[in-house]
Amino acid sequence: MQDVLAALGIKASNAGASTGTQWIAGGGKEISSFSPVDGKEIAKVTLANEEAYERVIKKAQEAFAEWRMYPSPKRGDIVRQVGEALRKYKEPLGKLVSYEMGKSLQEGYGEVQEMIDICDFAVGLSRQLHGLTMHSERPGHRMYEQWHPLGIVGIISAFNFPVAVWSWNTMLAWVCGDVCIWKPSEKTPLCAIACQNIISEVFQANNVPEGVCGLVIGEAAIGEKIANDPRIPLVSATGSTRMGKAVGAAVGARLGRSLLELGGNNAIIISKDADLDIAIVGCVFGAVGTAGQRCTTTRRLIIHESIYDAFRDKLVAAYKQLRIGDPLDQNNHVGPLIDKGAVEQYQKAIEKCKAEGGRFLVEGGVLDGAGYESGCYVKPAVAEAQPHFEIVQHETFAPILYLMKYNTLEEAIAIQNGVPQGLSSSIMTLNLREAESFLSSAGSDCGIANVNIGTSGAEIGGAFGGEKETGGGRESGSDAWRVYMRRQTNTINYSTQLPLAQGIKFDL
Ligand code: NAD
Repeated sequence: MQDVLAALGIKASNAGASTGTQWIAGGGKEISSFSPVDGKEIAKVTLANEEAYERVIKKAQEAFAEWRMYPSPKRGDIVRQVGEALRKYKEPLGKLVSYEMGKSLQEGYGEVQEMIDICDFAVGLSRQLHGLTMHSERPGHRMYEQWHPLGIVGIISAFNFPVAVWSWNTMLAWVCGDVCIWKPSEKTPLCAIACQNIISEVFQANNVPEGVCGLVIGEAAIGEKIANDPRIPLVSATGSTRMGKAVGAAVGARLGRSLLELGGNNAIIISKDADLDIAIVGCVFGAVGTAGQRCTTTRRLIIHESIYDAFRDKLVAAYKQLRIGDPLDQNNHVGPLIDKGAVEQYQKAIEKCKAEGGRFLVEGGVLDGAGYESGCYVKPAVAEAQPHFEIVQHETFAPILYLMKYNTLEEAIAIQNGVPQGLSSSIMTLNLREAESFLSSAGSDCGIANVNIGTSGAEIGGAFGGEKETGGGRESGSDAWRVYMRRQTNTINYSTQLPLAQGIKFDL
């Protein structure tokens, strides 16, 4: 891993200091980043203290005054160069993501590819930040709307997508003319430092003010500062529903804007008309990919009673094929959980499911021995459960899959919708009526609803996010850019009169 760190400009002794610039806020206590892959310390990182936070905010304010005056396509050109730099660093950055977070190497590379894709998307967007024109009711008047940048966007991100989620926000915010301050997860600080180093290279080559890209590494307290800071008009926060409720309340109390991307509890409905071969792959990848640590992980399968036994047996057989181990070894399907705290949550969830009457078809358990020294490797588990179980209503960030039966499609949709979260959902069916009913206004209540693909693995072209306790935010593609801008309506009078709207008379 030393060669990977060196390629990304990270020094193991003090990662944050490695760039020798002011880009990275420090001054606070020192923490170590440990890999869940082998339990080893990767590097030490200095957290941001209060003074460093203030410095980053000040730099961001100064930079905004300059950055907002760049023509948007010019900002797009900088983002294009960021995309090129990410292509250059895809291999080491993908490896670091895999090693620091624990996802498979393929998924690590996939995450960097997603960053490249959003850069490409943002470059095109930089020429398409369109407003509408309207017909004025007054003669000799023109009315239109335009979109202006907001200012500083605060980005609080989760450990499970340590780089992609930041880029979804940042690349759009930048072409929109905003500047960004990133508080990454304290569990994956090195991925953030690597990104900062890559960006720094591009910015220095283009004389972009460094405050356009601020980084404050810290624990929840720094996230709370961002949420409460009136100098930050938009806070984009990705993480647990618990965190989102706190951030949403703090930002709301100061009438700021928040974009919340929170927990999911995603289900796939397996119809009697499903292509079961496709369904099996979609379900297993959805449930065990990233060791069940995606917000879009498949947590519930709602299976038609007529095919329940056959599908269950196929699924159990597929789980027997899973290889658990080092995620950098491409022969393995399932890597570790992020840390021992996550392992504990997994164990508690299994106990709770049993206590509520769940029956495990594939038993879970923590692995030990050679290759599992970090203590973070667990067996993906499958249980038969009831929709109303408290544990089934709750997102456990680990590979535990709950199976349930249904009879009518209405019943399946009610089970699918009957949880507090509303992120991703799917139906496996070749029946057009079922597919369209699932997608209709009386169907899935989630932000993402798919047919014949699983719940995870979204593309950047669509708006990403979910309803209910998932927070309601949308990021990435479609018109998600609008949340990063303020809309201004302009009315221009080019006549020789001053007619008032609604025909109101006011003579002097
Ligand atoms: P987490 O909520 O523990 O932490 C997320 C981030 O919030 C971290 O940077 C953390 O330091 C910060 N934070 C924690 N408490 C805070 C507070 N009170 N105020 C401000 N900041 C605070 O989540 P995690 O364990 O890192 O990630 C897993 C969770 O993230 C899961 O629930 C998952 O579903 C969710 N997630 C959602 C999406 C999505 O797009 N909907 C994407 C990825 C992850």
